[in-house]
Amino acid sequence: QQANVSWQNSRGIDLADPVAVSPLLEAMAAGVRPDALAGPVIGGERKPGDSTLVISPADHSVQVGKVIDASPAQVTEAMARAYAAQPAWDALGIDARAACLERAADLLEQECESLMGLIVAEAGRTIDDALSEVREAVDFCRYYARQGQHSLRGDDHLPGPTGEDNRLSWHGRGVFLCISPWNFPLAIFAGQVVAALVAGNSVVAKPAEQTPLIAARAVDILHRAGVPGDALQLLPGDGATVGGAAVRDPHLAGVVFTGSTDTAKLINRQLAERDGTILPLIAETGGLNVMLVDSTALPEQVVDDVISSAFQSAGQRCSALRVLYLQEDVADNIITMLRGAMAELKLGDPAALSTDIGPVIDLDARQMLERHEQRMQREGKLLASCELDAAHREGNFFAPQVYEIEKLGQLEREVFGPILHVIRYKVADLPRIYDDINASGYGLTLGVHSRIDAFAREVFRATHVGNTYINRNMVGAVPGVNPFGGHGLSGTGPKAGGPNYLLRFATERTRTENV
Ligand code: GLU
Repeated sequence: QQANVSWQNSRGIDLADPVAVSPLLEAMAAGVRPDALAGPVIGGERKPGDSTLVISPADHSVQVGKVIDASPAQVTEAMARAYAAQPAWDALGIDARAACLERAADLLEQECESLMGLIVAEAGRTIDDALSEVREAVDFCRYYARQGQHSLRGDDHLPGPTGEDNRLSWHGRGVFLCISPWNFPLAIFAGQVVAALVAGNSVVAKPAEQTPLIAARAVDILHRAGVPGDALQLLPGDGATVGGAAVRDPHLAGVVFTGSTDTAKLINRQLAERDGTILPLIAETGGLNVMLVDSTALPEQVVDDVISSAFQSAGQRCSALRVLYLQEDVADNIITMLRGAMAELKLGDPAALSTDIGPVIDLDARQMLERHEQRMQREGKLLASCELDAAHREGNFFAPQVYEIEKLGQLEREVFGPILHVIRYKVADLPRIYDDINASGYGLTLGVHSRIDAFAREVFRATHVGNTYINRNMVGAVPGVNPFGGHGLSGTGPKAGGPNYLLRFATERTRTENV
């Protein structure tokens, strides 16, 4: 167990302060230029090629920029250059690498507003979400810098027999492939990349196809912060072509992935089929996350926390609440209050400060949700929904819905978006509910609302999930404060933003000399 280091979370902006908000909106707008271009960045240079348009999820008629996808030959070139650069980057030492992360944190903070503008435009995230996201990226840089300096320093003075000098040192594994998702296009992209870099790896980053422009901005910031061009390569493109080629590349030493469970399984199979060494996969995937609410819970707080857990970010967080268990004596009351709160939600343009819920990421996501909606109309009972007005037909909007179902087993997999399911329970059902939660195979987040401590403790003991939240919402894990990650179908277990995360990216070597 590594000790916690001392550090400070990133500063915020008061979005309720009119004096702060108007310059913020102006500075955000400056971050979006339709002629912005993301492309392969190899050896610090952006490579030319044919581009396609990047379109806003909120309005298909708005161009956010253009992207050039990497070719298979460019994957090979980037991997080879990263491989050649890694020993020198590793040899720089933890302090010099951590200093790059500190400088990157400062640059991210200085450029916060324009990054927020791009996150809102390219990923359709709300202003509030975009601000937390930049802060999370800053936090990952500062936290991993300090944590690396604390835990990857090694030991020059191991005790041993007279005449023998024993040293233990930490090193990067080699070239790490970072495959990141669109739902946190800056924070998770940066979190993966800087964790791998500070541990002494060189990095080839493959961002989500939907959000290459933010990734390109982040890479530019890291290069300006002092990360050598060959230690960090950027390869935009689709998973099959670019990701697939990188996973098969002989220079690869490890993969860190955040995204769907199916893709994590595919990467795992591809890694297993390679010739040669067995490579580590650090995966953080989805969840079938539940919240248990008993009859002692405070209804107002429950409703607030259900709304933010299930619908913030349009439900597009792997931590989001999917299944709400309500003890039957309070269920009707909470459902009525939830319906009232949902009627107040503002769905719409993510660039407007008043918006609570923006679009889902693309047409595929919306169609997947529509298919689930049709299924729920047959198999569940609609309890509450929000209105989608005609003005939003030009974007990928999907209005939040709540359905009552009988049991967790009706949902075989995560539904990534603003659809919440409700199950009523009796106290006598609890042992079976714990079994159902564990039998789902997922294990990411779980919420409990109760004023009985013993109940919260029982739930924590009986269920196996990575992050349990008691009497609060269950999203928005803060680096260094709520180390985040799950197991089973939810991932391979490492805790991003936790004191032991970096160790997964590094190897130890012992040097013994007879002096
Ligand atoms: N860390 C995020 C949270 O706590 C979720 C990350 C994800 O969706 O992949 O909400």
